Amino acid sequence: MGEVAAGEVVELLQQLIRGACVNDGSPESGQERRNAEVLRSVLEVPGVDLELHDPLPGRCSLVARIEGTARSAPSLMLLGHTDVVPADPTDWRHDPFGGELVEGEVWGRGAVDMLNLTSSMALAVRRLARSNFSPRGDLVFVAVADEEARGLLGAKWLTEHLADAVRTDYLVTEAGGFPIQTPNGVRLPVTTAEKGTFWCTLTVRGSPGHGSMPLRTDNAVLKAARVVQRLVEHEVPAEVHEGWRQFIEGIGLPPEVTRPLLDPSSIDAFCRDLPALGLARQAHACTHTTVAPTILHGGTKVNVIPDRAQIELDIRGLPGWGVPDVEAMLHQALGDMAQEVEIEWRFAEPASSSPTDTPLWEALERVAGSAYPGARCIPYLMVGGTDARYFRKLGTTAYGFGLFSTRLTFEDYATMFHGVDERVDVASLGLSAGLWEGLARELVT
Ligand SMILES: [Zn+2]
Repeated sequence: MGEVAAGEVVELLQQLIRGACVNDGSPESGQERRNAEVLRSVLEVPGVDLELHDPLPGRCSLVARIEGTARSAPSLMLLGHTDVVPADPTDWRHDPFGGELVEGEVWGRGAVDMLNLTSSMALAVRRLARSNFSPRGDLVFVAVADEEARGLLGAKWLTEHLADAVRTDYLVTEAGGFPIQTPNGVRLPVTTAEKGTFWCTLTVRGSPGHGSMPLRTDNAVLKAARVVQRLVEHEVPAEVHEGWRQFIEGIGLPPEVTRPLLDPSSIDAFCRDLPALGLARQAHACTHTTVAPTILHGGTKVNVIPDRAQIELDIRGLPGWGVPDVEAMLHQALGDMAQEVEIEWRFAEPASSSPTDTPLWEALERVAGSAYPGARCIPYLMVGGTDARYFRKLGTTAYGFGLFSTRLTFEDYATMFHGVDERVDVASLGLSAGLWEGLARELVT
């Protein structure tokens, strides 16, 4: 398909893995300038305009552009990130920052999330520039910092400070394209939507007293325990959205599995009993607004009845859910304890989505067809978040996609994101490079 050699992608990916731009969420971590400089040296070719932006020292994002000849022509952005999440080497079979090539696979943190795509995007753009590609619309490659900490110093910053420069009609970023073999042929999931994120802190209060006389005291930790219990026992009704229906119908599971997965009245029981834990969790998360109590603080001293306890919640909302809906759900779950609980919002961002009846969708399907003849794309709802949501706010049609070989399965990929033994096979790297080049030729010329 494309002519970027897989070997070139391997080499660049190895460099980016060894760059170890580990983002632990603190503003001084990441230091993506290291990887941005590597990419800058790859893309310093005639025809490519390059800009680097560091909102904080070292937190660098690169914007590379092949300018189009017609202002009105559709534009495309290939969006990668250069940071990775931490990795503890003691858990891995190979050094997570070694970028070793072992039996046809490149190992290391970021091998699938998402230095693989970032590398293949950069090389596809360089190859296009070198072949004097002169598109009508802009082709933009952006390698952002800070994706792993919600993009505050990367995508969020760029879309707020340089909106006009980074607004394109179409955008592709992670994650998708893991081939699923079905009785009707290969299906390639395209991430068209992401759930919303709602993080809040619940505070409950009591009265301090001596720990040696607990009878009839007003203990905040005890209250917090009851609050947690009510939250996890509360059943949020299932919702089967159109995207979920198309995904499940598309992957060709047996009817006895498909039926309950598409029926809001039976999906809860089905997920509870399903032995395949990964699928059960995924199916549940794709059809419910979920609440996970993740942090609990309370008490100050072992012999003091605590007067205050706090619970942090990670809530992920289905499309259509806003803060008022989430608050109503919390009140319902808390019942008569609701008035004793203060809710403080830390972060609230509703779900985002892009339509599927677009030229980008058609182009992806056409280009992917050269790797997987007859393959069809199916929409997929991401239960976590990517930077795509910031660009959707600018009006961009944004999908998560890539191309992968069949060496690893959809489940393999699901466990490698932020997991151990992250790796990608060489063939997948070549496929992705071909995809980006083909997509640019289809969409912006
Ligand atoms: Zn990622």
